[in-house]
Amino acid sequence: MPRIHIEDTPQNIDKTVELAGWVDVRRDHGKLIFIDLRDESGIVQMVVTPANPSLHKEADAVRPEWVIRVTGLIKERPEKMRNEKLPTGGIELEVATLEVLNQAETPPFDLAGDGYEIGEEIRLQYRYLDLRRTRLQNNIRFRARLLDALRRHLIEKQFVEIETPYLTKSTPEGSRDFLVPSRMQPGKFYALPQSPQQYKQFLMASGFEKYFQFARAMRDEDLRADRSFEHTQLDLEMSFVSREDILVFVEEMMIAVVEGLGYKVKEKPFPRFTYAEAMKQFGSDKFDMRTEEEKNAGVQAFAWVTHFPFFEKTDAGGWTFTHNPFSSPTPEHIEKLLAGEIETVIADQYDLVLNGYEAGGGSIRAHKPEVLRRVLAVMGYSKEKIESDYGHMLRAFQYGTPPHGGIALGTDRIAMTLLGENALREVQAFPMTAGGRAAIMDAPAEVSKEQLDELGLQLKPHKDKGTHGV
Ligand code: ASP
Repeated sequence: MPRIHIEDTPQNIDKTVELAGWVDVRRDHGKLIFIDLRDESGIVQMVVTPANPSLHKEADAVRPEWVIRVTGLIKERPEKMRNEKLPTGGIELEVATLEVLNQAETPPFDLAGDGYEIGEEIRLQYRYLDLRRTRLQNNIRFRARLLDALRRHLIEKQFVEIETPYLTKSTPEGSRDFLVPSRMQPGKFYALPQSPQQYKQFLMASGFEKYFQFARAMRDEDLRADRSFEHTQLDLEMSFVSREDILVFVEEMMIAVVEGLGYKVKEKPFPRFTYAEAMKQFGSDKFDMRTEEEKNAGVQAFAWVTHFPFFEKTDAGGWTFTHNPFSSPTPEHIEKLLAGEIETVIADQYDLVLNGYEAGGGSIRAHKPEVLRRVLAVMGYSKEKIESDYGHMLRAFQYGTPPHGGIALGTDRIAMTLLGENALREVQAFPMTAGGRAAIMDAPAEVSKEQLDELGLQLKPHKDKGTHGV
């Protein structure tokens, strides 16, 4: 007999079916034992009568979270016994056979509620149990639907999905890199990408005019509820486009996807502010334009912020970029940059704001070597450093790279915001703890002396931590 899903039980009244799943609750009413069985599609009430003593004994033994397989007859419940709140509330399954597929120890925390009150360490240590709760099941499935809708939209618009390497080169892009030592070239390191920024620009040089991928961006930054070591970006790039083209394209995509998921968008087209206007009006470049009423109604407020200053002063008195060293100044400011009027140069950079969060950011890029070279020089890089760190990029620009621009949208953050959650861990399957430990796995962890030897690494006492660092 093939297994059916619990959601399909109401269509199978008076039929004998097989179900499999987890024991949600077992209620012992003396003679009758009620078991609520849960699978990924729902919950159904099952009843075991004393007619078959050995079955009754087996049913008596099961406990919450045991995995069982049953067969039985689906019966319509008498009118009075119906539970209108449950999609399967009009029926119950009368168990004929019951097989225990796996027993379960008592979970270390309750799986029934929303789980917010449970300590993060324990939730993440037993994440596979935590993920069984309805709220997280819904969140992770919602995230999948969001990604699916975005992907479909992009493929429909002739974008090509291309993966770029995770083992790559360290380049200063604003955050600290995660480094991976090379075994074949001892003493040298790969860096995990902070974003696919440079590779996507190489793809434009390669003649792919519309690219996207769901990329993991890895940054060794201090952790916050809305920032983690790794997060997923919908990364996209287009050739022969202006800022306006990208804003309109992304806006149409977000409206189609977010409305498709059943949300109301507060204002269309998205309101736009220059950075200066946003700072003046909201005191921030991430602002929430919703009224309390709109917040409660789940309305989503998008906005664009454009015209960011390209550079800001460093503590040491030099200059650094505010967003992305690969951006171009706005068309009217390219001359300014080349003429050295650094302070007032505006980058052709745009951020997408959603309900007070930065949901994405991108820019029109420098595609001519002299513009990128000039940006790097403003940041005080020597000719040698420019060549060693950015020579590959400057070279690509010397071989017919088209004008291009793009954006990266933080899909974890967008999912979190749409769901009304306050932390990324509520939409990531296996998030890190606030202390930077991998969920379930005890990582970071020490490695063997053999592994270190192979990599040509030696540990020395770490001055701050009292532990060992490389
Ligand atoms: N690479 C940028 C980031 O990760 C996004 C972009 O400009 O496309 O923030």
